[in-house]
Amino acid sequence: MSSQWELVMGLEVHCQLATSKKLFCGCLNQEAGDINEHTCPVCLGYPGALPKLNWEAVRLAAQAATALGCHINTTSVFSRKHYFYPDLPKGYQITQFDQPLAESGSIPIGLPKQSGFEQSVPVHRVHIEEDSAKNLHLKNGSLVNFNRASVPLIEIVSDPFVGQPHHASQYLRHVHWILLEAGVTAGNLEDGHIRCDVNISVKPVGSPELRTRVEVKNLNSFRNIERSVIYERDRQIALYEKGSSPVQETRLFNVKQGKTEVLRTKEEAMDYRYFPEPDLPVLDLEAQWIQENTAKPSVLEKKHYLMTKWGADEGQAVTVLTETGLFNLIEDTIALGADAKKTLDWALTSVLELKKKKQLPVNPTQLYELIQLVADHKINLPTAKDVLKKIAFSDAQPQVVVASDGLEMKRDDDTIREIVSAVASQNPDEWTRFCAGDQKLIGFFMGQVMRKAKVDPKLTTQILNQMRQEQP
Ligand code: ZN
Ligand code: MN
Repeated sequence: MSSQWELVMGLEVHCQLATSKKLFCGCLNQEAGDINEHTCPVCLGYPGALPKLNWEAVRLAAQAATALGCHINTTSVFSRKHYFYPDLPKGYQITQFDQPLAESGSIPIGLPKQSGFEQSVPVHRVHIEEDSAKNLHLKNGSLVNFNRASVPLIEIVSDPFVGQPHHASQYLRHVHWILLEAGVTAGNLEDGHIRCDVNISVKPVGSPELRTRVEVKNLNSFRNIERSVIYERDRQIALYEKGSSPVQETRLFNVKQGKTEVLRTKEEAMDYRYFPEPDLPVLDLEAQWIQENTAKPSVLEKKHYLMTKWGADEGQAVTVLTETGLFNLIEDTIALGADAKKTLDWALTSVLELKKKKQLPVNPTQLYELIQLVADHKINLPTAKDVLKKIAFSDAQPQVVVASDGLEMKRDDDTIREIVSAVASQNPDEWTRFCAGDQKLIGFFMGQVMRKAKVDPKLTTQILNQMRQEQP
């Protein structure tokens, strides 16, 4: 790619909400099952059937929008978006147009500084709408399955930003992750729970004007989104460089050939004739409802917290947040009084090593006790790790195991002196050299002493040095 050009992308992500019922009727939100099993006059668009809003969908949409960093509007409006297609039985889609549910979020993906936004992609808006049915194309005709008709969706629209093709897939990964963590969607990309459209244009580096953009529709894999952006960027640059220019159009990505292909051009672009949906009231949300239903901290807030309060780096924060239950274990262990850095270290090493599927090996009380036993010099770190293995997946208390197995480190001078004397008499040559000043041998004696008993290493070092000086 010629370096005089920069890439501008804008993303629209559709996400199915994991409600039990559809958006405007009592049918189950289940694509599986017999074809057209989950249908009724409302979602089949019969004349005279009236929509009734599913509040579970509104709640999940508000939680999703909050997790994406958006502000929830107390008033939003449903509108009709008209177009004719067999998968749209009413002849229009109920969506939100000029007054969406939520606005002004941001997705931190570590964008380079020249993007103009530093680190984050701004989320322009999040709105609620219904999904279409699904067409099944056969050799001798097409069929329609209406199980998906009117399933609740949110559409997440980003602002355009300058970046590299991999930023588009990174954005989708983050959105996917945030929505999964917020618990609002089943989130299977292969099943179409999350689908992405990308608007792509190129412009001379640093130029403020946006040039003609092309929309690539219906991408549902992280890899294909990146491939389609690369193809489209290079196609547009090649057009400009030979004196031509791209036309505004909608394209599809051909996965096999790795190319985008024209679906429709601007001349064929639709006029949707939006107007407010007369069969649904304005969606008024009270501030208290918003507060109560979106209070759960989002994954982004948790990530920020991990990095600023507990000293995790980016990679550690992501690990903690992608491993089920790990964040809560750390949070609760620290709440009991454990040191944050040590808790994080334990959680990311020994605890993760023992984790089975979604089950963590310890509860916060056990982890706290283990950390305290080391902090109080009752046991050393290797012993603590052995104790963790012993108590894993049980409710045994570390203190009890340490006591019953005699694992506590010896901390009284006399006992340690006795052990050192015994070791010295068993290794007379080394002891003489050590007393004569061969400092390297301190490691040898530490090892010998530790083999005989669990001792406090710091204290033992002190005693070894004292006893050496006591020699005539
Ligand atoms: Zn229905
Ligand atoms: Mn849409």
